[in-house]
Amino acid sequence: MKRLAKCPCCAAASALYLVSKDRNRHLSDEEFSYYRCINCGLVFIDPVPSDLERFYEGGYQQIPKSLGELRAIAVKERYRLAPVMEKAGGALLEIGPWIGVFSINAKDAGFDVDAIEMSADACKFLRETVGINVTNTNDPVAALCVSKLYDVIALWHSLEHLPEPWAVLEAASKRLKPGGILLVAIPNIGGYQAQALGARWWHLDAPRHLYFWPPRDLARLVNRFGLQTVSLDTQDELSSVLSRGAWENFFRSLVRVRIVRGVVAKLLAPIASLFSQRLGRGAGVTATFRAP
Ligand SMILES: [Zn+2]
Repeated sequence: MKRLAKCPCCAAASALYLVSKDRNRHLSDEEFSYYRCINCGLVFIDPVPSDLERFYEGGYQQIPKSLGELRAIAVKERYRLAPVMEKAGGALLEIGPWIGVFSINAKDAGFDVDAIEMSADACKFLRETVGINVTNTNDPVAALCVSKLYDVIALWHSLEHLPEPWAVLEAASKRLKPGGILLVAIPNIGGYQAQALGARWWHLDAPRHLYFWPPRDLARLVNRFGLQTVSLDTQDELSSVLSRGAWENFFRSLVRVRIVRGVVAKLLAPIASLFSQRLGRGAGVTATFRAP
């Protein structure tokens, strides 16, 4: 494997960062290389697998059978509305909502919700059962080339899956009303957990996660598109959920005796999470930016 690659965002030389496999789903034995750009901070997979779709088989979460089932899941994640609630009643666009956990909460809070989603099955559910206006495409930049402006554009753990995420951020920045909020939540590659676990970090999720930015580098990029940073939160509730999940997965992988594996992981994960989150660089980052 090569030691250097060209950053797809800024074209600077980037050194090999780590090599990993599909440790989460074991869909192949291939090795995937990630590089880190010394100029813009982007951590990126290279090359992007040409057969990426097969690594998504089964999705991340089953499509619910009813709106009631979706609401039962969504009610536990209402906290995700807090950073944008000042805009309640306004127009909100979610990019990559999958089954719509955040979208239904936003709709129930009074937002007028649009979505851009690549899964046709998820789109059918969002349109027919959740009742939101959804564009089915795997080209969010093209879908953002519309005249409508939004009070909020949100990407909850979808940016790391997208081809050319920098172009998505730029296009989204142009579709905000004055004072509008861009919310971007991604795994924190600059976090303590990512650095401690390296290639074994659950949220690396190779090869499905293609791109990562440490929080400050993400902010630097979005600021260049004219938005101001409001907050870079790595200690929010979602970050804690991500942290516990990844520690649990890590401890499970260490214990060979199947019968005690789950118990050991459940006992140790909250302790490890408490320490790693307290170090100030949490497992996930929820970033908010404001349009002038
Ligand atoms: Zn770069």
